[in-house]
Amino acid sequence: MATDIQIVVPKVSSVNPATGKVLCELECAGEHEVHVAVARAHAAQKAWLEIGLRKRIAMLRNFQRLLHQKKSEIAEAITRETGKPVTEALTTEVLVVLDAARFLIENAFRLLRDEMLPHGNIATKLKSGKLLREPYGVIGIISPWNYPLSIPATEALAALVAGNAVVLKPSEFTSLVALELKSLLHQAGVPEDVFQLVLGNGATGGALVHSQIDKLVFTGSVPTGKRIAAVAAERLLPVVLELGGKDPMLVLDDADVDVASSAAVWGAFMNAGQTCLSVERCYVHRSLYESFLKACAEKTKKLRVGNGSNPDTDVGPLIHERQLKIVESHVADAVARGARVLAGGGGLSQLGRNFYAPTVLADVTHEMRIMREETFGPVLPVMPFDSDEEAVRLANDSEYGLAASIWTGDQQRGEGLARRIQAGAVMVNDVVSCYGISEAPHGGVKSSGLGRAHGRFGLEEMVRLKYIDSDRVPGMKKVWWYGYGASFARQMEGFIDFQFAQTVAKRLSGALRAAGIVLRKRL
Ligand code: NAD
Repeated sequence: MATDIQIVVPKVSSVNPATGKVLCELECAGEHEVHVAVARAHAAQKAWLEIGLRKRIAMLRNFQRLLHQKKSEIAEAITRETGKPVTEALTTEVLVVLDAARFLIENAFRLLRDEMLPHGNIATKLKSGKLLREPYGVIGIISPWNYPLSIPATEALAALVAGNAVVLKPSEFTSLVALELKSLLHQAGVPEDVFQLVLGNGATGGALVHSQIDKLVFTGSVPTGKRIAAVAAERLLPVVLELGGKDPMLVLDDADVDVASSAAVWGAFMNAGQTCLSVERCYVHRSLYESFLKACAEKTKKLRVGNGSNPDTDVGPLIHERQLKIVESHVADAVARGARVLAGGGGLSQLGRNFYAPTVLADVTHEMRIMREETFGPVLPVMPFDSDEEAVRLANDSEYGLAASIWTGDQQRGEGLARRIQAGAVMVNDVVSCYGISEAPHGGVKSSGLGRAHGRFGLEEMVRLKYIDSDRVPGMKKVWWYGYGASFARQMEGFIDFQFAQTVAKRLSGALRAAGIVLRKRL
């Protein structure tokens, strides 16, 4: 008896988090589709490399022009899918990507071209060294939903200009923004097989990790990052892991309370706190503690929460209910353990089910989840400290190490403390903005990840270093080749003394003993 077997293809839904409206449903790429995409990328990459760096830089210019032309449309698409205020979509996504393209247009040629490598050791002076930066081949990119344009685009532009093909698995929550990115890149002149999307959920991402990619650039949570690192270790797949953060903000006793409180409020609540570099923990010198809290609470209460498509909105919704539940549970745990709520403290269901009021908590401690786990929501927990020493200890008392900020009237003091903070970046008198500095490397230490994105070091992640060594006197047998014996050993000792002995006399004596080393009979 014949039976109809119905194959159900898993789907991802793109939803407007402010309204709950389903924007579209898209099929997830399965294992087979992912492998086909990677194979096509491999086949196309060679020609992409061969067109040369100048043509790839020209592609960046086209992309930059197109993105600039469509800036408002793209920002609106980002807001529709993430809920973030449209102003933030412009500043933290479109502007960041335009500037990342600017950085690569200005610097890719200089940073990627072959580099002479002079040799210091006299024994190797007759050889010329050269460094080549070769693309990996196919770079897999897996990205999160919180910056659906700026994260995958900055990584993809660097990978592409270096001559790689890219297969991107965007977050299941932001497929539409990824489709916009794909369309811009293809219009800019990137061949279809050189930049491909595989849409889908974690299973699609898993398939990409298991595919024949040559390197993976992953941005997302620590648990997923660890899972991916374990799979990558099996076949020594190189990975960049840009993971979560629990960034501390230290307000020293000489800080300007008005400026620092505005920074804390923006740093904690922009993108509804769903930024890897958000201010997740705030430590304030006891002498400023109450005035700082008062200023933060007053400013927080003035924030306008709503649909990000309204240009007057300061804080939009969370991406989905699961994120809201994490925020609720962290706040409930803090309150149960004695934290004071100075602003917010609960959901705003009258606006929609994903809205949470920007919340200021005082008197938090490191026993509370809100100070140890990534909250990724609009909460500013504040705790006092008594000395710089204590502030540094508290800042470093975390499994994370993405970024940090220090607030002080004394830049030197701030930079001195910055050296002692365990983080990939420390800002003195600013928060979050280092992600928007295209020259600055972005990445973490400890559980916040491995490797770097952005700027020179992000570009270096997209290439393998190859060293080429050419001998200037190919007709000469090398002095270190066979033909060993007591006399050669003495000459070699002399040669070592000639280069490394501690006195001039010993060096000269070494030179005399080494004389004749070149004339030595070799096999
Ligand atoms: P996530 O780890 O849930 O998902 C990230 C991506 O990985 C998504 O595309 C997802 O589909 C995919 N994925 C899930 N399981 C997978 C698996 N087993 N194999 C392969 N891929 C898989 O993270 P998220 O919720 O999308 O993003 C929020 C997290 O990202 C936060 O922790 C945040 O701090 C972090 N983040 C870090 C940075 C950074 O630069 N360090 C930037 C933005 C966000």
